[in-house]
Amino acid sequence: MTPHHHKLPHHQNRRGGQVAVFLLVAFVVLAFMVLWSVDLRRIVFLKGKSQDAGDAAALSAARWQGTSLNLIGEINLLRMLAISANDPATEDALTNMQARLCFTGPMAAFAAAQQGAKQNGIYVHPDYTTIVRDHADTVRNTYTTTSAGQMLFDEPYPGAWTDYANMLDLLAADGIAAGADNAELYTDTDRAHILLNRDFYEAVAGRNWCWFFFNHPTLLAAYTDHSFWPPLPEPEWAPPFNAEFFSLFVMPVPFVLENLVPETITAAAVVEAGLNPSLITTQATEQVHSWYVYQSNRWQEWTIMDPEGEESFPITGPVRPQYNYIGADAVVRVETAASRMTPGLDGSSRHDTILWTAAAKAFGYLNEGNDTTRPDIWSLVIAAYRDVRLIPIDAASGGGNGAFDLMWMHHIREHLPLYVAYGTREANCWYCNQLGTWEVASFRQEGIDWLDENSSRCRRPSTGGGGSRGGGTRRGH
Ligand SMILES: [Zn+2]
Repeated sequence: MTPHHHKLPHHQNRRGGQVAVFLLVAFVVLAFMVLWSVDLRRIVFLKGKSQDAGDAAALSAARWQGTSLNLIGEINLLRMLAISANDPATEDALTNMQARLCFTGPMAAFAAAQQGAKQNGIYVHPDYTTIVRDHADTVRNTYTTTSAGQMLFDEPYPGAWTDYANMLDLLAADGIAAGADNAELYTDTDRAHILLNRDFYEAVAGRNWCWFFFNHPTLLAAYTDHSFWPPLPEPEWAPPFNAEFFSLFVMPVPFVLENLVPETITAAAVVEAGLNPSLITTQATEQVHSWYVYQSNRWQEWTIMDPEGEESFPITGPVRPQYNYIGADAVVRVETAASRMTPGLDGSSRHDTILWTAAAKAFGYLNEGNDTTRPDIWSLVIAAYRDVRLIPIDAASGGGNGAFDLMWMHHIREHLPLYVAYGTREANCWYCNQLGTWEVASFRQEGIDWLDENSSRCRRPSTGGGGSRGGGTRRGH
């Protein structure tokens, strides 16, 4: 036997060891790939689920908004009859009902959104529930209390704040799965301040210099440090006729009906409601009465949806004239936590949040022989809503509010006042981190230099970059 004979098995052993190591490595890689693809499939699945749930929630909420507007419109007609019949008690009762509908309608919309989300498998979000429960407390305690024996906000009908707080508590008791992302609290401030505009932070994060070129052309050069910012605005104290979640944006205004609405319109609406137009007297039409009308600052032309317009919104075909208005709509946020099976690179990324925001709006038209008349054209609310559709988030009212975007809310309520006063930033806040980037002079100089060369290449995007606010979100996690 030559030593070679001994060598062979030894060599085989070593080769065997290498194979084992290779197999082990291959196995580990394979295991990662399997886990990763399972993760990926789960995430795709959950994404689809969140989308369905968010869309269903937004559509349900918008449907209730439409129904509520129709009811308020029909009660306008019933009040014409009550006034004509010299029945002030009935008229008062009807007016009170309209004021209540401005709250119960949106609250029903909020409840319907929860149904829509939960039926599609979205669980209650404890933080969303807390937002609603805390707000119920705020309404119950702050809105009704006063320093000088008055209410902080006038009640639109007696007992409104207690009613409203109770409804919010009922919603919170069932648990909130779908946040009303376009909520506007009475205490909210005007979002015109740059620091209250989420697009600013997006532009910094993405080095989107064109955003500065179009929206704040002098800011990059003029900025010095945090003391440059104007003070954060005070609350606007809008007249509280509407619920803060899924608002209808209507209000009672005293006027002479005949001066504003052609007789043919009211007559047609009365006929369509199955009522007798001959019962309406001049008492209802020629005297000053308070009617529920659309808030003109909220119900406007939907110019963003004009494909011929500056924004050239990516939609198929032009918006039909009878649909060309903004106003009440529903923006909804749902979140699903996808726990990772693949070991994360760092311990903190064990959970991915899958987020979906969706917007929907009730559509309709006034029956005037043709079907091309916007429902809000005569200011007076008349039953007109027949349909509900999903709309792009960027075309929705207050779609950028992020009322249930917790990080954003913490940022604007807690971090910004300190930042504007002292220049302090919160380390764990994405928005504060963007401010940190912004504070660096060389960062802003980079933008100035880039725009010097390239500003002619800037194209005005359809607000915020191709409607990407839909499709979940670019924000937060
Ligand atoms: Zn912050």
